[in-house]
Amino acid sequence: MEIKTVGVIGAGTMGNGIAHVFAKCGFEVVLVEVEQRFLDRGLQTITKNMEREVAKAKLTEADRDASLKRIHGSLDRKDLAKCDIVVEAASERFEIKSELFRDLDQICRPEVILASNTSSISITKLAAQTKRPDKVIGMHFFNPVPMMKLVEVIRGLATTDETYATVKALAAKLDKTPVEVNDAPGFVSNRVLMPLINEAIYTVMEGVATPEAVDEVFKLGMAHPMGPLTLADFIGLDVCLDIMRVMHSGLGDPKYRPCPLLIKMVDAGWLGRKSGRGFYKY
Ligand code: NAD
Repeated sequence: MEIKTVGVIGAGTMGNGIAHVFAKCGFEVVLVEVEQRFLDRGLQTITKNMEREVAKAKLTEADRDASLKRIHGSLDRKDLAKCDIVVEAASERFEIKSELFRDLDQICRPEVILASNTSSISITKLAAQTKRPDKVIGMHFFNPVPMMKLVEVIRGLATTDETYATVKALAAKLDKTPVEVNDAPGFVSNRVLMPLINEAIYTVMEGVATPEAVDEVFKLGMAHPMGPLTLADFIGLDVCLDIMRVMHSGLGDPKYRPCPLLIKMVDAGWLGRKSGRGFYKY
């Protein structure tokens, strides 16, 4: 089956970026949200980001207009019935995603692949909500989606080679590089990144160094484009904490214990860039 129409669920940070790249690469997109204001905000962000690409001569005005026309916003999930694949990028809550996967299994044709952009929820568990676990897969994009090359493609226990090959080819059509990983808490990206961030927070909590000094060490000594604490503020400290908790409970190893300072900052509402304060003030 040729993939022509793609469903994207959620028009937040990731969903609008995913809709953006699919539309830009010639796919028709059905973008589903729960409320009109979230849909409007997502569509505004896509328009603004495409404007930026036009200003940088990365996109022509005609291609921008054609891409925007290919995105069809909807508040009705049933509109996903016409899609050839669905990428779910709704909020990171198992109850939300499991309900969605049960419903998508009813709405979408049996041959349609159901992908999730989850950062930490088990693909195998989401697949088990459906009668097509062989066609459920993780398609983990990175923020900002239009700029980041990687798609971590996560195989659940039942995901078939055919499903993997389809998603791998699709990622390549988006000019992204797919990397195959198996389902495990945090996959590879967060399994390695989050303990680094968590340990950086321990060094601040223990007074080993200031956030600025920790970030300088990584920028100048390891050639990271941004230090781990700047990155944590960018990702959101609440998101970092959620992912540490998923790995701590899922892997059962005390080395994944979230740093008490991270917990305290989230309790204070210091969530990073999005709340105006994290390790830095914005
Ligand atoms: P977000 O909060 O910015 O957006 C989530 C959107 O989903 C919201 O607009 C919300 O209204 C919508 N939504 C919730 N329930 C829905 C439903 N039932 N149907 C339709 N829409 C629904 O979150 P985000 O950062 O875009 O994250 C989305 C997913 O992507 C999560 O699974 C997250 O773990 C993953 N992810 C996030 C990042 C990141 O850096 N933010 C990176 C990789 C993966």
